[in-house]
Amino acid sequence: QELDVELILDGLNKVQRDAVVSDAEVLQILAPPGSGKTRTLTSRVAYMLANGMSPSNIIVATFTNKASKEMKERISKMIGGGLEHRLIIGTFHSIATKYLRKYGHLIGLPKEFGIADTGDSSNVISRIIKRNKYSTMDGSDAGNVRSRISTLKAKMQSVDDYIASQKKANSTDEFSKIYDQYEKELKNSNLLDFDDLLLRCLDLLRAHPLCVSNIESVLIDEFQDTNLVQFDLMCLFAQRRNKITIVGDPDQSIYGFRAAEIGNLKTMQQVYPNTIVLNLEENYRSAAAILNCSLEVIQQDKARPQKGITPTHQLGTSPVLRKLPSPHFEAQWIVQEILRLRALTGNMFTFDDIAILVRSAGLARDIEPQMNNQRIPYRLIAGTKFFERQEVKPVLDYLRVIIDPNNSEALARVVNIPKRRLGSKSVEGLVAEAHKRGISIWTLICKGVRGDLKFEAPISKLGEQSLCQFIKVIKDIRKLLESAELAMKHDIAPIIQSLLDKIGYRAHIENMQKPGEERWVHVEELIEQATEFCNNLAAGFDDDLPDSDADAVVIEESTISIALGRFLANAALATVKESPEAENSQASEGVLTISTIHNAKGLEWPIVFVPGCYTGSIPHSRSEDTDEERRLLYVAMTRAQVLLYLSYPSELRDRKSGDKQESNLCTFLAEDKLKPLMKSAGPKISLAVIEEFGKIMGRECPTIEKIQETTKAANLPNRDDYVPSDDPSVNNYGTYTENEFQEDYDDDFDDHE
Ligand code: ATP
Ligand code: MG
Repeated sequence: QELDVELILDGLNKVQRDAVVSDAEVLQILAPPGSGKTRTLTSRVAYMLANGMSPSNIIVATFTNKASKEMKERISKMIGGGLEHRLIIGTFHSIATKYLRKYGHLIGLPKEFGIADTGDSSNVISRIIKRNKYSTMDGSDAGNVRSRISTLKAKMQSVDDYIASQKKANSTDEFSKIYDQYEKELKNSNLLDFDDLLLRCLDLLRAHPLCVSNIESVLIDEFQDTNLVQFDLMCLFAQRRNKITIVGDPDQSIYGFRAAEIGNLKTMQQVYPNTIVLNLEENYRSAAAILNCSLEVIQQDKARPQKGITPTHQLGTSPVLRKLPSPHFEAQWIVQEILRLRALTGNMFTFDDIAILVRSAGLARDIEPQMNNQRIPYRLIAGTKFFERQEVKPVLDYLRVIIDPNNSEALARVVNIPKRRLGSKSVEGLVAEAHKRGISIWTLICKGVRGDLKFEAPISKLGEQSLCQFIKVIKDIRKLLESAELAMKHDIAPIIQSLLDKIGYRAHIENMQKPGEERWVHVEELIEQATEFCNNLAAGFDDDLPDSDADAVVIEESTISIALGRFLANAALATVKESPEAENSQASEGVLTISTIHNAKGLEWPIVFVPGCYTGSIPHSRSEDTDEERRLLYVAMTRAQVLLYLSYPSELRDRKSGDKQESNLCTFLAEDKLKPLMKSAGPKISLAVIEEFGKIMGRECPTIEKIQETTKAANLPNRDDYVPSDDPSVNNYGTYTENEFQEDYDDDFDDHE
């Protein structure tokens, strides 16, 4: 099939083209936000495919699952033909998981290993702390201990290394004991935590290079946020041909707190002395006014090497910086501004065009009710993930137990769901007893109810009956799975359905929900996802690993239990999932995004709001790295294409005590130099402004009739003021007539017109 190289290179600038077609073996593309790094990387992949490289010989590591999906779509547009489905593309974790599923047995990994998510890990740790009555730490510290362990693993410090270093220093602390037991418990339950996935994959590829003998080229986006383990993985993926392309931007490194290693850029140049470095300098994303303002922020970091970035768009509208009396009013102001903008521009912006980016998930709490009030459809990429919802997680846990009854983590969580007359004391008792006897909880309860042993755990007669029921459910579903296997069926949805029927899950969920809540919808959504997942598998769209020279030793089994295992792995590694409410909304209006800044990396929206710009939030009170916090703000600001709104409340209320406390504008934004670059209110909307928006976004402008219609329909306060006009003296902005908005909050920032 002929592929059109010109189509791939179309619209790229000189340096980007050079990068795409470069025959450099090792290439680093270092460039500021919006300069087309991701686009260049994507085009380079397409170019390789156009030149006959097989997609299954290319590994592309992206930062989120969503990013890899988008990248596939872009590649598909350029080359078509479905080749993109065979790329080995995904996050480091998902790629590593695929290799371990296929070849893990080569390093003695059990076939059906489970993945411990951060919640699982914390549970294990908190149990270890309780069981041993460690004095200096109580159960609530489990999260901290977990991230400490994770950081050590990300720096490749194994338990043994750590203990050895402690011995040298002549001390053994409780932490090293917890670390040690944690590793043992995961192993006993056949679980790998997120760090293990990468570490075990390192082991695999070191010992069995044949697994990646087919790999011709390795490409990595957002390289600045890789850690040491990921760096080594990259080298191992590429070990056959040593062809690597990375793109990144040191100014956007925001994962230092998770052991990301900015030194990887230099290390790479040392490991591969033939590395060629290219720089892109033009920004194609943002209006110049937004870019200038963002640069002013990042340049406060004096240690940072100065470098140029040229806007390609016109000046556009100044970013807005606004102070509001409280987070509640801040949220109200955001919603009003959104409605105003949409109405005055003839609905030129859909909700898809708008993002609200928050430093931490908690900040979304004030915003959500306002969105609901105004019926604005939104997706939350912050806070509880879909697969972690209270009604969804138990279903997944059940499935984990069905796949592997010895997964004691999952079993302990669901053995009493729905309530089965096993109090928490009984469950804790079972967990402790299984540990003491050195067997899984499953083995323990099976033996216990058979009378092969006498429970030490406090289990009543009724409790014992419940255990019998539970065991029966698991066995029945496992049988079902087996017969589906024999019948060569692949859809796991019916299995989930019979499980839910057997345990009376629907009634359980409906008892649990509060008025107005619709939890069952999420369970249905899960079943739909399972179906979709299996369909994709059947269509060969599941990015199954291609064959490699190591395949001679692989026993191939493509079965429903493998499908189920993959589905669960997929769920464990999911970074985000939009809520079904949002998916059902009218497509024409789109869905607004509320995301953490961390999850917004690499993305762009015409309109971006960054609320909560106060000291304590950015920079965060718990962060020790001010420069990283500044880069985080920089990442947030540089997501915006035409309009950027920064805001902060002047007063906060303590969630527990209810006490009010004053809050201050984030120091990064309080610099004098920024003053003339920002305004205190949203832009006056004139036809000229609308045209400017259109140009930057590359979109048609609405007709004047349409604008008049939407403006009228919106029934904005002081409607006359809002009529769009070409006359700049007409004030059609900032008239938030509700009393709260009457005051001028902006003593420190005047409106520089
Ligand atoms: P970030 O650092 O935020 O990840 P990036 O460098 O990866 O940014 P991209 O997302 O690839 O930037 O590109 C930013 C925007 O600029 C995209 O909308 C992209 O399509 C557009 N773009 C990139 N290169 C060009 C070009 N040569 N001409 C026009 N638009 C371009
Ligand atoms: Mg990018």
